Amino acid sequence: MECVSSTEDKPRTGILNLDVLSCPICVEPFTIPIFQCDNGHLACSSCCPKLRNKCPSCALPVGHSRCRAMETVLESTSIPCQNAEFGCTQKLTYGEESTHEKTCTFSPCYCPVKDCNYTGSCEDVYLHYKKLIHQKPQSTSQRCRVRCGSSFFVKMNISDKLVIGTLYEKRLLFTVQSFWKPYGVYVTVSCIAPPSSPKVEKLSYCISYTMDGHTITYKSPELKMIQRVSFHKPEENYMWIPNSLVHGKSLETRICIKKREKDKSNDTEGPHQFVQKKVFVQKKKVLFRK
Ligand SMILES: [Zn+2]
Ligand SMILES: [Zn+2]
Ligand SMILES: [Zn+2]
Ligand SMILES: [Zn+2]
Repeated sequence: MECVSSTEDKPRTGILNLDVLSCPICVEPFTIPIFQCDNGHLACSSCCPKLRNKCPSCALPVGHSRCRAMETVLESTSIPCQNAEFGCTQKLTYGEESTHEKTCTFSPCYCPVKDCNYTGSCEDVYLHYKKLIHQKPQSTSQRCRVRCGSSFFVKMNISDKLVIGTLYEKRLLFTVQSFWKPYGVYVTVSCIAPPSSPKVEKLSYCISYTMDGHTITYKSPELKMIQRVSFHKPEENYMWIPNSLVHGKSLETRICIKKREKDKSNDTEGPHQFVQKKVFVQKKKVLFRK
């Protein structure tokens, strides 16, 4: 890794074995504060209470004196995000990078086409799908090319399990997946993007299915962002069609993907809950500051 060894404008860099920045007791990356006993043995802040503040190496008390020197070394580390190759420019201190990488907006996405191993940023995957590799989609349903706010029909063979489409003005791929279970069919819509990507505006979707004069409609408060297609039945955000309304092996659903209506606080549907949650979190923060 690169480590900063001077505070001048252009710091000198060298090699540091990252193992020394992990707690020798629990082997987790150190976070500040770092403690030491009178003999200089180190322990992290979560190990100290577990050890009842007794150094496991020399039995002297530990957990009262901090090791400022080691804290400075930790603070001076500068590690590039593991998604640097996909465009992330963040430099992080050791231990921070794993937290960042969980929400990094450059986290790689996987091409949803079966047996394709292409990986890249969500836009790369979109371009890859659109232009380069899949010029001959296996079925016409894969040509689904739609824009936000307009309804479209998707006809799919339930056993195909997956239809891929493009939200072309957002340069995103979306998937419509079906899961045929003994008691009915689950249909869910997702988009291929990292979970917290701010580049992707929050989207919701509405899906409906009509058969024998019955219409089932599901309005999802969110379009789930997924990095790769999973073939496990979703736990939430799906439309369920009972077997009695499924005739034959294909389904035609009407779908509309649109911007999430987050500011309509008197809306009684899904988006309202999101607004409520946000307000709650903000209140909590204010209380915490006091
Ligand atoms: Zn520890
Ligand atoms: Zn000790
Ligand atoms: Zn990153
Ligand atoms: Zn591909």
